[in-house]
Amino acid sequence: MSSAPDAAFDAASTDSPPVAVLIGGGVESTALVARFLAAGRRVVPVHVSCGLIWDEAESRWVRRFCEAQACDHLATLIEIPLPLTGFFRDHWAVTGQDVPLAGAASSRLEIPLRNLSLLGFSVHWLKSVPHYQLALGTTADNHYPDGSRDYFDKAEAVLSLEAGFPVRILTPFIRQTKTDVIRATSREVLAASFSCVNPQGDQPCGRCIKCGSRRAAFLAAGVNDPTDYAA
Ligand SMILES: [Zn+2]
Repeated sequence: MSSAPDAAFDAASTDSPPVAVLIGGGVESTALVARFLAAGRRVVPVHVSCGLIWDEAESRWVRRFCEAQACDHLATLIEIPLPLTGFFRDHWAVTGQDVPLAGAASSRLEIPLRNLSLLGFSVHWLKSVPHYQLALGTTADNHYPDGSRDYFDKAEAVLSLEAGFPVRILTPFIRQTKTDVIRATSREVLAASFSCVNPQGDQPCGRCIKCGSRRAAFLAAGVNDPTDYAA
């Protein structure tokens, strides 16, 4: 059931199923929505909000992105509240204390069962959508256990049982890096993306671990970073 990375963006035919894209607002998921729309696919954007310190700003960025991309093929944004504050309790993502800065170990960003919970809860909210495919912007930079194609292949089997039809999970960027995705994405879409775990209002902080990896990827791509960082 492995997914060919580029075939996902083949031009849509009339019987192409809608694709439910899990959108977190970052470079990869916004690029994914834009690429599917450009291929003529019908896109259902799904955003999961976990109540962590960046989530309100992230949700506003996602809403603005979807408004800017509005077209016949883009369905209304589905927003799923999935608060994890009780689970994380005194974690920095709840308290805002000791937020990992650029260069910190990526293990400090790990959210347990992240992709499985995003996918699983999305399946339950998509019950009114007939025979869709799911898509995530996971790249080769994802070294967490839930970022491998093997993981998604096995998740497809479980989620198909949940959904009652064969659910495909598309991961077209899984062999690309964030840098590759940046190079292949329009400036307009890049400027509408957001990836910061310590925003000042809606503005990315410029100092946190996510701002650090974003800045490094733009630098490596040789692409001018359109982000207005606070610092
Ligand atoms: Zn930041």
